[in-house]
Parts: sequence; C-alpha cells; structure tokens
Amino acid sequence: MTADIASHDKLSVALLFGQPGVGKGTQGQVLGTIPGLVHLATGDMFRGLDHDSQLGQEFLKYSSQGLLVPDDLTCRLWQQYVQGLIDTNAYRPHMDLLLLDGIPRSVRQVEMLTSHIDVLAIVHLVCPDEEQLVQRIVLRAKKQGRLDDADESVIRRRLDVYNRETRPVLDCYDASLVHEVDADGLPMQVTQRVLNTIIPAVEDRLSNPLGA
Ligand code: AMP
Repeated sequence: MTADIASHDKLSVALLFGQPGVGKGTQGQVLGTIPGLVHLATGDMFRGLDHDSQLGQEFLKYSSQGLLVPDDLTCRLWQQYVQGLIDTNAYRPHMDLLLLDGIPRSVRQVEMLTSHIDVLAIVHLVCPDEEQLVQRIVLRAKKQGRLDDADESVIRRRLDVYNRETRPVLDCYDASLVHEVDADGLPMQVTQRVLNTIIPAVEDRLSNPLGA
C-alpha cells in the first residue's frame, strides 16, 4: 500500500529559492538526476497541464501576465501531484529528499503547506544584478518558447511579484535554515555549492539505502 500525503508524517524537503532567472530550473534539473533527490518545480507542473483544459487555461491567465496562480488552486494541485509521485514510487518519502522549486511562493502558501512539509534547508540562490536576470529570462524564453516569459514587461512584473509576494517567505522560517548561495559561475560550480549546503542539512534525516 502506498502512503497518503494527507495522513503521512511531514515530508522532508529542501527549498530551492531565488528570483526568476537565477538558475533554479537548471540546478533543479541536474540535482533531480541524483539518486535520493526528487526535484519538483511547480512551474513545470503547471506547464505540463493541457493548455485546453480548464486548469491549463486558468494557469495561462495568470502566468501570461507574470502573476501568481491563486494559492488554493496551487496548493491543491501540488498536493495531488506529490500524491501521484508517491503512488508511482517516483518519490519515496522516507528515503528521498524532496527538493521544492517554486513553492511556497507566498506567505499564505507557507501556511497552507506547513502541515505537510518539514523544511530542512532553504537554498537561496542569489544574483545581485537584476538586469542580468532579465536578459537571461529573455534568452530562455526564445530558446524554450515559454509563453509566460514572452515580453519584457511581463518579466519585470514577475520580478516585482517576487520581491513583494515571494521574498517575504524567507522571513517565515528560522534564519538558521536559510543558506545564501552565489548563483554566479559555471553551472557545475553552482551545483557544487548547492550540494555543499544541502547535504549537511539533511544527511541525518534520510535513510541510507545500504542500511549502514
Ligand atoms: P516558474 O517556472 O517557477 O517561474 O513559474 C511559472 C509560472 O507558474 C509563475 O509565473 C506563476 O504564474 C506560476 N507558478 C509557479 N509556481 C507557483 C506557485 N507556487 N504559486 C503560484 N503560481 C505559481
């Protein structure tokens, strides 16, 4: 029988945090290939919805303006998504670290998720140059055909929403959990910094697959 997220012990998670364009997606993709690490990006979760479905349309309505999807809908979908990962054995709560990327993204989401997750570490990827971020997102939108990053005013709105609604999430957690990581450098250098941050914070909490 598979676990039910609603009745499960809190899930051990690390948060990948930072402004849009700072490189969370790139890092998340690489980190998610490591055995025992499961990367869940809510942006990918939303983009995976059928665009013609009601939920898919709802997502586009907000994301095309650079706005956040409403908290209730986001958390409900997130819960179903995590349950799906558990049911298909893609995520084994006692053995894997769930790396959340893009959630919680508002103080209300912190409150809604608090009974489900135990946050062991927050990796805050930092790039002080906002212009560099805008240019990175423009490039990525062209390469990946991302509708939500189609024009520069939308990107600036996304950064603004981050500063107003998402940055305060950091203040909801004990400062000792928050680790600032320099997002500048080769992707593999950044990966190394992220792992150096996460591993000491989580190693005692996960089962060793060899049972040592
Ligand atoms: P991302 O790929 O993380 O930049 O997310 C793309 C878009 O998905 C965002 O601009 C939001 O519209 C939506 N989104 C992703 N995660 C969340 C979240 N936790 N809460 C609300 N909206 C979200």
